[in-house]
Order: sequence, then structure tokens, then C-alpha cells
Amino acid sequence: MNDVLKDLSSEFYPYAQQRLGFNKPANIEYLDDPQNAQDPLGKTAYYDPTSFTVSLYTSGRHPKDILRSLSHELVHHAQNCRGEFEGGLVASEGYAQEDDHLRSMEKEAYEQGNLVFRDWEDKRKSNKDEGAIMEHFDIRRVKLNKQLMDKFGYKVPEEPKPEDSETTKTKEKKK
Ligand SMILES: [Zn+2]
Repeated sequence: MNDVLKDLSSEFYPYAQQRLGFNKPANIEYLDDPQNAQDPLGKTAYYDPTSFTVSLYTSGRHPKDILRSLSHELVHHAQNCRGEFEGGLVASEGYAQEDDHLRSMEKEAYEQGNLVFRDWEDKRKSNKDEGAIMEHFDIRRVKLNKQLMDKFGYKVPEEPKPEDSETTKTKEKKK
């Protein structure tokens, strides 16, 4: 299990805990399963409500993808802390069609899991990554330019094309 993933997980976890508001600690387990990684529709992660454990398959996956799985499973953990897993059901992926309640829990896990992960990623980039700050700055500058141009009735200049020489010719003819 690589250190980058471990560091990112321990950085993401407290953020997710605050956002999702679970009051019991979750265990995180990393599974190295090369055989599962060979299967294009192989398992990615699951949550066991009886042991509060999130299990993440790591083989052949991008750390960001694994973290998104972690975020999803932590929503299930938050649901478990709220008492939504009555009877100790194991939330493995693929159960969603079986039951309306489970299906709505799955919907929440997808929506909240993606949102929380995305927000954390944005926050982290704007705090730590100079490249991301430049990206934001550039976007702002482009917007500002466009606003100024709209205000003064200018059109955004287009890339010069070879045809421009013809406009010059037309102008010359008018003289
Ligand atoms: Zn799920």
C-alpha cells in the first residue's frame, strides 16, 4: 500500500468526519487483490456495519479513485452511526436493487460521497497547490477581460486567420 494514498487518506478522513458528522471512528482497511484488479467490473470497496470497517481495494487503481471510494463508504459509515443499518446488513456494492431503503442510502452515498470528496479536493488545491491557484487566477482574468470588453462594446478578438490579408486588400481598394 503506497504512502501517498495513506497520507491522503489520513488528511481526508477528518474532513469527511466533520462534513458527514459521524460520531464513531471508522476503521480503514486496504486490500491488495491483483486478481480482482484484473476484472474490469471487479470490487472497489465495501463497508461492514458490524465492525465499522471500510475496505478499499487498491491494486491497479489511481489514488484519487480509491479516495472517492473511501468518501462513498464513509457516507455508509455515517448512515450506520445514525442507525440506518438495522440488522447489520453488509453494504457491498450491487445490493442496491434489492430494497428501497438501501437504494436511497446508496443514492445518498453517491451524492454526498462525490460532493464531499470534490469539495475537499478543491479546498486542498486552493490551499496548497500553486498551480491550482494560478488556474483560478487565469479563469478570473479571462472573465474580467470579457466583462470589460462587453461593457465597452468590444468583441473578444479572434485568432488572426490567413483570410485577414483579404480584408487588408479590400481596405486598399477603397483608397
Ligand atoms: Zn454504496
